[in-house]
Amino acid sequence: MTVIIDQERCAYCGGCVSVCPEEALTLAETRLLVNEHCIDCGDCVSACPVGALQSEEIQIPIRQEPMRKQYDLIVVGAGPGGSTAARLAAQAGLSVLLLEKRQEIGSPVRCAEGLGHDHLADFLEPDPQWISAMVNQVEITNVIGDEKEILHVSGGRGYILERRLFDRTLAELAAQAGVEVRVKTSVTGILKEADTIKGVTIDHGNYITGTEKVDIEASVVIAADGIESQIGRWAGLDTQLPLKDTMVCIQYLLAGVDIDPGCNHFTIDPRIAPGGYAWAFPKGQEGANVGLGVQADIWEAEAVTTDNGQAQLVGKDTVLGFLTRFIERDPRLAQGYPVTLVAGNVPVALSPHEMVTDGLMLVGDAARQVDPLTGGGIANAMTAGKMAAEVAVAAIQAGETSKHFLSRYPEQWLKSTGRLLRRNYRLREKFPLGRRNDKRFVQAFLLAVGG
Ligand code: FAD
Repeated sequence: MTVIIDQERCAYCGGCVSVCPEEALTLAETRLLVNEHCIDCGDCVSACPVGALQSEEIQIPIRQEPMRKQYDLIVVGAGPGGSTAARLAAQAGLSVLLLEKRQEIGSPVRCAEGLGHDHLADFLEPDPQWISAMVNQVEITNVIGDEKEILHVSGGRGYILERRLFDRTLAELAAQAGVEVRVKTSVTGILKEADTIKGVTIDHGNYITGTEKVDIEASVVIAADGIESQIGRWAGLDTQLPLKDTMVCIQYLLAGVDIDPGCNHFTIDPRIAPGGYAWAFPKGQEGANVGLGVQADIWEAEAVTTDNGQAQLVGKDTVLGFLTRFIERDPRLAQGYPVTLVAGNVPVALSPHEMVTDGLMLVGDAARQVDPLTGGGIANAMTAGKMAAEVAVAAIQAGETSKHFLSRYPEQWLKSTGRLLRRNYRLREKFPLGRRNDKRFVQAFLLAVGG
């Protein structure tokens, strides 16, 4: 008999590994593994702070904390979209529960952390605590065959955030407004009555409540559960991303690089980042977020044909391989050393045909509200969170949470930011894979990234 691990509850501290006499436990970053050497001595159970290990020898009872079973609003996901929606709804008087599956809000980061000043100013004052660089210039290197065209624009105002702290701050502001925030709590299902969403099922994976399935009801659920969103699907909304509308991204935080600390650099080169672009954003002293995004259906294209008519075979490689080549070719970056690896996909799609249904609204990446030209989604998620919260408040006050009432949110979205994103999506379609060196496309890109 070996020890039993509750992976949901495990907080990945590694304490159990240190006391094991048989080298039977390994911590594989966020997964604790047990091997055949386990003798079920129970030492690891005593060393676990959260009750994630159980053995025949020692059993520690898990204290069950009573939880409310009903809220006005449940928000799933404590990213920028979810925390903003939760805060504004609580400020308007609703009882709000904000659920986050990670044990630390904002971590791991899946972002290059760029945000324009105007977008931020709509929501909160910039704070040096979560800003790691201020930028006022943009440089785009447009590589066509063996030729390079460099475009330079200055005068804008933007930030490179410390996303981990930024997201945490947004959640703290929500809590200060009265939101009940729960971390390490996964939503694993939705409650449905006929076709109406009535709440969610959660998996308690923390030491306070133990792992059990609990149903919590709400008048409205806002799903701000990011690119991996499943809540929309469970509710019957079509949120599947086509490969061609997905950017596969990878990034290093490089220390010791030599780039202009006030300038965001972009490279458009079909051999370096087919269908997307590479970036180098300054971060702190001699640091930079250096990454790239590649269109996910690249392997279906036989070759990338560029605007000058050349067919360029990009060659099969992982996206990490593309990034390695990009860094190796630039001596200013090649002298740096990676201190963080960030991986993630970005939806560059149209929003789903339906973003709401009875009792449910989708917000942020869950609703694919990312700029299809730039891949920027932080500000859009916050804007959508605000709109969704306002409609949820009105709906709950009117006692009318039908899809018809909640549709005020997508209507408003499509008249404002959503309209711009649709326009940029069409532009991307007009200049498909391999044609994104076109001057008109590059000009539009420059405008969108702050030119
Ligand atoms: P998220 O920030 O993804 O938050 C969703 C949250 O929901 C997560 O914390 C997740 O753990 C939680 N969750 C998911 N499922 C569940 C569940 N079942 N139960 C409980 N919790 C759940 N945007 C920019 O504006 N600027 C950039 O420079 C930029 N660079 C990027 C670089 C990369 C490599 C990537 C991948 C993205 C980048 N983006 C950028 C996009 C940006 O990160 C997202 O658009 C933004 O985070 C969306 O916010 P959100 O609140 O919708 O979702």
